[in-house]
Amino acid sequence: RKPREPIPPWLRTSVPIGENYARIKRDLRGLGLNTVCEEARCPNLGTCWGGSESETATATIMLMGDECTRGCRFCSVKTNRAPAPLDPTEPEHTAEAISRWGLDYIVMTSVDRDDVADGGAAHFAETVERTKAKNKHILIECLTGDFRGDLDAVRRVALSGLDVYAHNIETTRGLTPFVRDRRATYDQSLAVLAHAKQCWNDHLITKTSIMLGLGETDDEILQTLKDLRAIDVDVVTFGQYMQPTKKHLKVDAWVAPEKFKALKDLADGMGFRYVASGPLVRSSYRAGEYYIKNMIQ
Ligand code: SF4
Ligand code: SF4
Repeated sequence: RKPREPIPPWLRTSVPIGENYARIKRDLRGLGLNTVCEEARCPNLGTCWGGSESETATATIMLMGDECTRGCRFCSVKTNRAPAPLDPTEPEHTAEAISRWGLDYIVMTSVDRDDVADGGAAHFAETVERTKAKNKHILIECLTGDFRGDLDAVRRVALSGLDVYAHNIETTRGLTPFVRDRRATYDQSLAVLAHAKQCWNDHLITKTSIMLGLGETDDEILQTLKDLRAIDVDVVTFGQYMQPTKKHLKVDAWVAPEKFKALKDLADGMGFRYVASGPLVRSSYRAGEYYIKNMIQ
């Protein structure tokens, strides 16, 4: 399917508004916290935040502000070379808010802060530590940037007590320079995922996501999966890229649901421990269900 055709029906969703949704939204406003769910206008918002279909409520909190020092061509987050300084109270406020929401699983991510010496790794790690101190049972996934390849920064986050270390490779090697900010390289992303794994004696769950519909070929996807298996990445997700505004990269193709299913079978066969693949899958979509039921219990 070519993108100039209207958005196919499998990508249209309505947002159910539940009680948990309203509570989280109120709290976020009060505390000045941002979520990727809202920034990216994610179509799964109602479901993830506690809609009727969700068994495991999940939200994705964005730390360190809503302005990124990078400008990836697929991403709708605002770019600013000199964003506001980090808020030292954010780790504690975030931990408090999360402990009120009754979520089972939280994804913490951030804008890239190339202006901060450690890329914000200590701030990230402190948020995990404080959240775990208040909620022993909550599972935490950190979705980090590449910290410009600073492996000490990766280590600081990997050893913070999190349950899943996620970093998105986003696309194939060949498309990386056209899709991601020029400071983000394919090999640097592989190095982040490899190092996170090693920090925990290879026991930490590592996870990455690939967007489809940017012009990638089957061979390129296969090679990307091989590269990820070679560094023992456990979880991979595939979702459809959707152009957030006219200024962003155009969609090359609407990838059919059958193709997503075929990729899931392929990746399952290659030995990934879990694969989520579907047009509406986002890296954090219902992130908790699988881990809670099958990997951590
Ligand atoms: Fe968006 Fe992340 Fe790229 Fe920043 S680094 S522009 S938040 S994808
Ligand atoms: Fe938020 Fe991720 Fe769910 Fe979208 S898929 S609503 S970004 S947790």
